[in-house]
Amino acid sequence: MELINNAPLKAFTTFGVEATCDHLYRVEDYDELKLAVQYLERPLILGGGSNILPIGDIHRNILRMEMKGIYILEDGDQPIIGVAAGEVWHDFVMWALQHDLGGVENLSLIPGTMGAAPMQNIGAYGVELESVFHSLQAVEIGTGNVRVFFKEECRFGYRDSIFKKEVKDRYVITGVNVRLTRDHQLNTTYGAIQDVLNVKGISHPTIHDVSEAVIAIRQSKLPDPKMIGNAGSFFKNPVITADQYTLIKSAHPELPGYPAEEGFVKVPAGWLIEQAGWKGKRKGNAGCYEKQALVLVNHGGARGEEIWSLALDIISSVKEKFHIELSPEVNLWNGEL
Ligand code: FAD
Ligand code: NAP
Repeated sequence: MELINNAPLKAFTTFGVEATCDHLYRVEDYDELKLAVQYLERPLILGGGSNILPIGDIHRNILRMEMKGIYILEDGDQPIIGVAAGEVWHDFVMWALQHDLGGVENLSLIPGTMGAAPMQNIGAYGVELESVFHSLQAVEIGTGNVRVFFKEECRFGYRDSIFKKEVKDRYVITGVNVRLTRDHQLNTTYGAIQDVLNVKGISHPTIHDVSEAVIAIRQSKLPDPKMIGNAGSFFKNPVITADQYTLIKSAHPELPGYPAEEGFVKVPAGWLIEQAGWKGKRKGNAGCYEKQALVLVNHGGARGEEIWSLALDIISSVKEKFHIELSPEVNLWNGEL
């Protein structure tokens, strides 16, 4: 297990903010991980760093999950594939496509690792991890005990799971098992997927066509973290009661809303932020992305405090205008913790 002292988190997170961490361990081996979680006090777990904002220098041990491997655990019409936590999510999607296995094509090009995917039940274009998830293996921090979580136990929700709530910071996910399909059920109704297929003249799309459409749409709308630091959507789309939605819509008739669980409506946070006048705005080195207001960006040299200060300004102006409180989707790693 390689140890990096005084590690620059700029290199390990997609926001690319200026911050260091006292000790960063690169974990490639399962047995080393089991030992590390028993002997290191309160370690923080890092995957690809694409959903983290470090605020200040981190005086904790970080375990960066780099364990690799993709295995067919059960074959058949709906094979179960075991994927080690350190595998890059998009590489796994490409592996599935190469094997003509469906279910994850709409989740193409989401950054990050397999081990982090269950944390917020990653989702895009009308599909969430939950729809293919079978189970996961995790190691308990402190004891090194191994536990398997099946789907129901993970309590998946919209950008949510048990790992962000009841068992937050208690487990390291070491591997995820997903059930893919050979008899594909395509979902092309969301966003611009169908439009892209129409433009290409594709009337009978394959999982490969859907993946390519998703990749093209994402590349046209989202900032590439290699070019401009960001962690994707900074805020969650708020889910409000239907009554609250009706009330706000009476003052703002153009307010969009999508059905959520019964009696609730999901409001696109990007729209709220844009209406509050933030799209394309800049505060020091932090900014609100010009093509998608839900994404906050590091224009270069920003510290986490600067990004967070912009986020707080956005939260308060959206609250003032719409009486809706935005909450971050990005995980805040506060140096004070
Ligand atoms: P990290 O950022 O390293 O960690 C995220 C959280 O998970 C942290 O709390 C960390 O402690 C914890 N964690 C990481 N690995 C483990 C593990 N093995 N065990 C236990 N805890 C762990 N997300 C979506 O849902 N949909 C999208 O469409 C999407 N698009 C994005 C686009 C861009 C350009 C970017 C930059 C981000 C996007 N995201 C999206 C957010 C992000 O890619 C996902 O949340 C991803 O799952 C994070 O993976 P990671 O490995 O980078 O996790
Ligand atoms: P978009 O298509 O412009 O839509 C804006 C918002 O409206 C999205 O957040 C989406 O919610 C919601 N929405 C749109 N059509 C919907 C429908 N038919 N049913 C329900 N909700 C609908 O969004 P975008 O920014 O280009 O992103 C496209 C997809 O990629 C979305 O699913 C988004 O979540 C995902 N994405 C996620 C991140 C991240 O970091 N989490 C970053 C980039 C993109 P949902 O978010 O619930 O889908």
